[in-house]
Amino acid sequence: MNAVTPINREQRPYSAAAQAVLARKPALFINNEWVASSHDKVIEVEDPSSGKIISHIADASDKDVDRAVAAARAAFDDGRWSGLPPIVRDRTMNRFADLLEAHADEFAELEAIDNGKAKGMAAAVDIPGAISQLRFMAGWASKVSGETTAPYTMPAGAVFSYTVKEPVGVCAQIVPWNFPLLMVALKIAPALSAGCTIVLKPAEQTSLTALRLADLVAEAGFPAGVLNVITGNGHTAGDRMVKHPDVDKVAFTGSTEIGKLINRNATATLKHVTLELGGKSPVVVMPDVDIAATAPGVAGAIFFNAGQVCVAGSRLYAHRSVFDKVLEGMAQTGDFWAPRASLDPEAHMGAIVSKEQHEKVMGYIEAGKRDGASVAMGGDAPSNGGGYFVNPTILVDVNPQMSVVREEIFGPVVVAQRFDDLDEVAKAANDTCYGLGAGVWTKDVATMHKLAAKIKSGTVWGNCHAMIDAALPFGGYKESGIGREQGRHGIEAYLETKTVIIQL
Ligand code: NAP
Repeated sequence: MNAVTPINREQRPYSAAAQAVLARKPALFINNEWVASSHDKVIEVEDPSSGKIISHIADASDKDVDRAVAAARAAFDDGRWSGLPPIVRDRTMNRFADLLEAHADEFAELEAIDNGKAKGMAAAVDIPGAISQLRFMAGWASKVSGETTAPYTMPAGAVFSYTVKEPVGVCAQIVPWNFPLLMVALKIAPALSAGCTIVLKPAEQTSLTALRLADLVAEAGFPAGVLNVITGNGHTAGDRMVKHPDVDKVAFTGSTEIGKLINRNATATLKHVTLELGGKSPVVVMPDVDIAATAPGVAGAIFFNAGQVCVAGSRLYAHRSVFDKVLEGMAQTGDFWAPRASLDPEAHMGAIVSKEQHEKVMGYIEAGKRDGASVAMGGDAPSNGGGYFVNPTILVDVNPQMSVVREEIFGPVVVAQRFDDLDEVAKAANDTCYGLGAGVWTKDVATMHKLAAKIKSGTVWGNCHAMIDAALPFGGYKESGIGREQGRHGIEAYLETKTVIIQL
């Protein structure tokens, strides 16, 4: 990293559109209307690039949650959404996507202000990604159906038997703060397409884009009560949603710790549960790679979104013969990834989402050093600007017992280790309770397929990382989750299968 280049980390001025959103009174979106919370509690909205409080959102009470669930329940039970022809659901979702597209720049700015991520990245990744989820899933409304199946034990013509796909019902959807709008889209798109109704809770740190999206719900043509957005704390509002008897399914993205808690809490009423949880994804670099092409990719695997990515390539295994060169190549990307205020047009990496998360990341770096790790790059936090910045960091001299190797840091910190052969690196890659993503960099097709088979994770990338597509299933092995989002698997998670057997 070029330590002599001074970076101005002051946050840039907000646009008039963003200021208008920040000036709003805290409110909840229930039954296609903005309503006040039943109590006056609010949550502060902070810009992580400046550390300044810039707005407030409602902290939903139990009563508010009950009201939102009642709206979703009524909208589901009378079939005002699930009973519509699939073409109407498809068109409504596409109109929703059109409206989001028309406001793309505003959404990218709000995401950058609220989460701390670089606006350019939000504009290139988060917002188009959310639009793509809506459009892709809209088409499934008319593509999923049951089948006519002949019974195994009965003579032909004795019965007429078939299956029907029906929406699961009212869905409580809870998302984290790292890709706020994209996570919302991943949740609501399959549920809406299937005909479900929704109570959605974004993370308390990053609710602005979910609230702004709610503005577009009625305009897109969704009937009242189909998509309700509440803001609030996880352990209060989120907990109420998970335990609510009128909720049929819980879909959660977040940490493994909270995912386990939610799974337990949803059991009392035996709700359907899908969980997208944490990761500690390995990235394997074989000796045959082109270092100039690979090193920036491996750096991007961890430094993109300041490492606050569930599939962040946070454990690097580079073959002993190329280890030093890969690290040199990664270090050359230090200027590119140097943290800047989120609205700085030159920013590629922004701020960490909150003071708490910043302290957690810095705490891990300190713990790594105490355990004997050495800092090969970064390891510190720039002090100017008032925001929660962490320099891109590479730790070496680590061993598999260290917390920095075992635990999800969720910051721009990679631990780099050497290996000698394929079986050794496959074993090391799998030495984790997680199994979300993995990257393999090699020119050798056979090596690629061998490692893809050996590594236990929901996705294996070859010569790329964190490439996500609405058509391709995504989810975790082991403690990284239950179920899959995206693709046909994504909508199946919001459908029940009913069997009908009629004696003739
Ligand atoms: P988190 O602390 O688990 O929170 C996620 C969401 O759960 C937030 O909306 C939170 O609300 C809510 N919540 C907290 N406690 C709850 C409870 N008792 N009942 C119901 N809801 C509750 O996760 P995070 O720190 O926001 O996000 C980072 C984590 O998400 C990382 O582990 C990351 O790997 C994971 N993630 C996974 C994927 C994936 O696809 N597998 C994608 C992105 C992120 P509050 O904000 O109010 O606490």
